[in-house]
Amino acid sequence: MTESATEPTIFERIAAREIPARIVAETDRVIAFHDIAPKAPVHVVVTTKQAGYRDVVELAEGDPALLAELVAVARDVADDLADGDFRLVFNTGGGAGQTIFHVHAHLLAGRLEEGSLAG
Ligand code: AMP
Repeated sequence: MTESATEPTIFERIAAREIPARIVAETDRVIAFHDIAPKAPVHVVVTTKQAGYRDVVELAEGDPALLAELVAVARDVADDLADGDFRLVFNTGGGAGQTIFHVHAHLLAGRLEEGSLAG
């Protein structure tokens, strides 16, 4: 786990309903909402309600059950909003396009353009 940030991340603020978002699913520890800048017909951010893990590598090492819960929420959203088939993209590191250092997956579904991975 990384040191706790002094300021809540934007995703924590969405989970706390301080910032509006189109929330599509949530559990006690995971929340999913439409990406504000969609790159696919279905583009949903699936993230932990609390920050603490910067990326999927930290989450996998620190709380694999929470990572599994995040994946299960992504599957449920893909079932609800698409035909159940989906891509799950974890941008990891700034060089890979990660801009928010609070672990999150991009759930992409629907007809995807070639090379249209989120980032
Ligand atoms: P990344 O670049 O992998 O860190 O992904 C961050 C994602 O968060 C981007 O796809 C943004 O479009 C998305 N995003 C940023 N702010 C918001 C917001 N307020 N509501 C929904 N999605 C957001």
